[in-house]
Amino acid sequence: VLDIRGVNHAYGDLKVLKGVDLQVAAGEVICLLGPSGCGKTTLLRLIAGLEVLQQGTISIAGSTVASSSAHTPPEKRGIGFLFQDFALFPHLSVLENTAFGLVSIRSREERNNRAMEALKRVGMSAYAKSYPHQLSGGQQQRVALARALAPRPSIVLLDEPFSSLDTRLRSQVRDETLHVLKHSGVATVMVTHDPEEAMFMGDRIALMNKGVIVQVDGPVNLFYRPVNAFVATFFSDVN
Ligand code: ATP
Repeated sequence: VLDIRGVNHAYGDLKVLKGVDLQVAAGEVICLLGPSGCGKTTLLRLIAGLEVLQQGTISIAGSTVASSSAHTPPEKRGIGFLFQDFALFPHLSVLENTAFGLVSIRSREERNNRAMEALKRVGMSAYAKSYPHQLSGGQQQRVALARALAPRPSIVLLDEPFSSLDTRLRSQVRDETLHVLKHSGVATVMVTHDPEEAMFMGDRIALMNKGVIVQVDGPVNLFYRPVNAFVATFFSDVN
């Protein structure tokens, strides 16, 4: 579903991505993992279309969305977002929040049906008329996930989505989110700096360092068959 080839990116003289290739299949969760500044967020922003690609190609569901001659705007890429500041709009109901990304659908009834369908997916349809302040942190996160899925994207991008939650809530929300994503059949790309989180969430992990994907593999292989000392050290504290 997602095909990234030969991506190079620089901010001025600072090269932040150097020859990145990555393919993600439908139904797969891939984690971009690595130390601060290695280029994870830049790669995510390029996939999203929030950054203009300088070199390489990015294709989504068979069509090229970014290349030297193409730049499809973010809202037309079929992508759902779940970012750290997942803030719901406080003055909109749960249903209205979920329907927010469905502006291209003319009929209000159809918009609401689609939003309800997404709320059902995350187990929040009973709260459609509630307002965000009436929900717990975990419930708000579920609504944010419903909002991301409502437009039926082929890809969902997550940027450190659980880092603002406390430890206890984090593992619960993580479980729920993974379950919903796996059952939605979307390709998921999640940025995290936490090896444990990546090992829990990822079918595969792309471990990055200084703008390069050092190894992309399943969690078990990364742990037991690191390609070099950087990979081994990165996972050495996980137990
Ligand atoms: P973190 O985990 O800290 O968010 P990251 O792996 O996501 O790090 P990026 O945010 O992609 O890394 O940043 C990669 C490098 O590019 C860093 O050195 C950062 O300072 C730099 N950088 C990021 N965005 C910009 C920008 N808009 N202008 C200039 N430099 C930038």
